[in-house]
Amino acid sequence: MPRPIEAVIHPQALAHNLRRARAHAPDARVWAVVKANAYGHGIERVYAGFQAADGFALLDLDEAQRVRALGWRGPILLLEGCFDARDLELCSRLSLWHTVHREAQIDWLAAHKTQAPHHVFLKMNSGMNRLGFTPSAYRSAWLRLSGLTQVESITLMTHFADADRDEPGGGMARQWAVFEATTRELPGERSLCNSAATLRHAPENAAVRGDWVRPGIALYGSAPDFPDRSIADWGLQPTMTLRSELIATQDLQPGDTVGYGSRYTALRPMRIGVVACGYADGYPRSAPNGAPILVDGVRCEMVGRVSMDMVTVDLTPAPTAHIGSEVTLWGQGPGGAVLPIDEVAHAAGTVGYELMCALALRVPTRVDD
Ligand SMILES: *Cc1c(COP(=O)(O)O)cnc(C)c1O
Repeated sequence: MPRPIEAVIHPQALAHNLRRARAHAPDARVWAVVKANAYGHGIERVYAGFQAADGFALLDLDEAQRVRALGWRGPILLLEGCFDARDLELCSRLSLWHTVHREAQIDWLAAHKTQAPHHVFLKMNSGMNRLGFTPSAYRSAWLRLSGLTQVESITLMTHFADADRDEPGGGMARQWAVFEATTRELPGERSLCNSAATLRHAPENAAVRGDWVRPGIALYGSAPDFPDRSIADWGLQPTMTLRSELIATQDLQPGDTVGYGSRYTALRPMRIGVVACGYADGYPRSAPNGAPILVDGVRCEMVGRVSMDMVTVDLTPAPTAHIGSEVTLWGQGPGGAVLPIDEVAHAAGTVGYELMCALALRVPTRVDD
């Protein structure tokens, strides 16, 4: 029998979350962001769940080819654009829309011989200071692009650094004001919102909503603004379950310790379970004593250090648990129990994004029906 660990991807939850995102921006089109192999879920595994998307956004050319190979004939957007002039040939051949965030990408387009003109997303740096033209350089970049026969349309785009929190007069408001002021007189469609902006700002602000929203993390059942808000608050469902089983139990006496470094000491007689899942499966080694975990759908606490292949759990809340009991590391548990990936991530000092992207290759993954 194989090791009892597995990951399960839930297409109905993906479709549900996409509907939730769309409900926040009903008059906009929705890019389903599937970069990083669909946030660790696997592009091929999420494709069916995202059939209602208006397009797929990603940044790896290889991943774009995989989406086309699945039969998608609609828009695909490269979020970082071309990395090299030669990438434009693939863009032409597969009709990939692409971001332009620096001058060289315009040079490449100007020199490119294409059959069909390209759809370009012109990115403004509104304060993140990663990619994009500064507000002062943005208009001249737009003018240059709009003069090229290789370009069919220019969508005005930015990416907010602070959409996940509200500071009066700060962050998001400032970044949006910069984008507004710079693009006010430019024609073309607009795309501004990641998940956080889509959920928190798109419903009440048509200008922020724009013509295309770009949710990623929300589609995968993680709240972009946890712990301020949870997936329950946003009506989202987990799309990835990491599950395993108890493969041993131990009865401890007061003073007994657990695991490497003896990080946990029993203060009373207690029973612990040993779970076939460790950091080599993608469970965060930084998870502390007390991190949440479900046994037979009952919420328990992790005790002791996470090791390569095992974690240990205090079975006090689940006295009937036994070898073979189902363990939910995150996602959907038995009997409708849910352990949001955000809670595990938060306990471990990270975010849901990192955990789902780090699901290890050795974990057999199947798609729920
Ligand atoms: C990753 C990404 C998104 C999606 O972000 P989430 O926080 O996952 O919603 C949107 N736009 C761009 C440009 C991105 O790189």
